[in-house]
Amino acid sequence: MDFLLPAPVLRALDMLEEGGFSAYVVGGCVRDWVLGIPPHDFDICTAATPEEMKEIFKGERTIETGIKHGTLTVLMENEPLEITTFRLDGDYLDGRHPSSVSFTRKVEEDLSRRDFTMNAMAYSPKDGLIDPFGGQKDCRDEIIRCVGEPERRFQEDALRILRALRFSARLGFPIEEATVRAIGRLKENLEKISKERIAVELTGLLQGRYAREILMDFAPVIVSVIPELAQADPVLWESMLSSLAHLPREPLYGWTALLNSCSTAPAVCADTARRILRNLKMPLKLIEGAGELIAWRDADLQPHRMQKMLMHLGPERLSQLLFWREAEKPGAYEKSRTRMEELLRENACYSLAQLAVNGKEMAALGLRGAQIGAALNMLLEQVVDGSLPNERQALIHYISRHAPCD
Ligand code: ATP
Ligand code: MG
Repeated sequence: MDFLLPAPVLRALDMLEEGGFSAYVVGGCVRDWVLGIPPHDFDICTAATPEEMKEIFKGERTIETGIKHGTLTVLMENEPLEITTFRLDGDYLDGRHPSSVSFTRKVEEDLSRRDFTMNAMAYSPKDGLIDPFGGQKDCRDEIIRCVGEPERRFQEDALRILRALRFSARLGFPIEEATVRAIGRLKENLEKISKERIAVELTGLLQGRYAREILMDFAPVIVSVIPELAQADPVLWESMLSSLAHLPREPLYGWTALLNSCSTAPAVCADTARRILRNLKMPLKLIEGAGELIAWRDADLQPHRMQKMLMHLGPERLSQLLFWREAEKPGAYEKSRTRMEELLRENACYSLAQLAVNGKEMAALGLRGAQIGAALNMLLEQVVDGSLPNERQALIHYISRHAPCD
């Protein structure tokens, strides 16, 4: 069966072959093709050195950021393609990266440094599938297996431990036995791995269809990268596991669900979650989101509270909170969501910007500085409670009688 490759990829392979260098698509895209999953990007590897590639692609726009490691990015019909020289890793002395890399002309050598058999296949229209480690068979048998001796491969780069978990969480394939044993023995080596690399793999794991199974079977590995989870509350941990399958597969929900089990006190838990995520160098938006969702996890979300909740959280966060809480109790918040949507459609007032008065009018009443903000907030609370209508006259009248003091 032929692998249907996008035109820019075929063109790059052709140009390299015409220049006298073998060239293949490699890694994730070949695995996905063998598994019948549409690949999301195409990595190319070749016998050509970076200098030779530059010569071949001199008519195209190229970006040289990865050139030290043998990677040239070529903009082929506006499609950025990463093309990497076949590489052989030297010794791994620090448990995370090779102390040297050298280029090779043999694709099999490049494949031998790759992590799992299913990721160690290459393909070209000219040579077909190159599969020296039985990747196709392992894909068929649905098993995740290291290329070579698992213990050695994890000693070289402990990140591969988390990568095995991520692929297993995504595909639902079990990890081969000797590989599981090596994971158990070497998980502490993950300490040597940079937070950024750990975060990428964990985020991928949490979004996997089978994340629940992996978190159940490999909890000690997760604890070795997030020690705070050693004291996870068992009840919260269980509800996290059961919620995962119902949550949208987005990093925010996965991380919120996972870190929600850190403590039974929401405020403490939110602080711990923010600290963990900061430490993992996660994007600020995710840190704030997960922290806020956890802090508000016990909020009363009945329909009549929706306007108030909109005031506290805004529409986006409240909607996320409903999704998340709903995943633990399917169907429980349908009416609340309907109510929230109704309020938004009606343009109900839940924020200072929507109030029928503003700071200028407060100043005209003689209020100054912090008093103005305090007055507006007081009015907003009254409007959201339904004690006052959101009408200019009514609000001014109210504040002229109840002006806040400093
Ligand atoms: P995805 O579809 O999630 O991108 P992928 O297999 O393409 O999966 P990448 O992280 O993009 O994963 O890596 C590309 C390829 O590089 C892998 O398929 C594998 O061959 C190789 N690789 C990546 N990281 C490692 C590693 N730590 N050790 C060995 N080989 C690796
Ligand atoms: Mg990839």
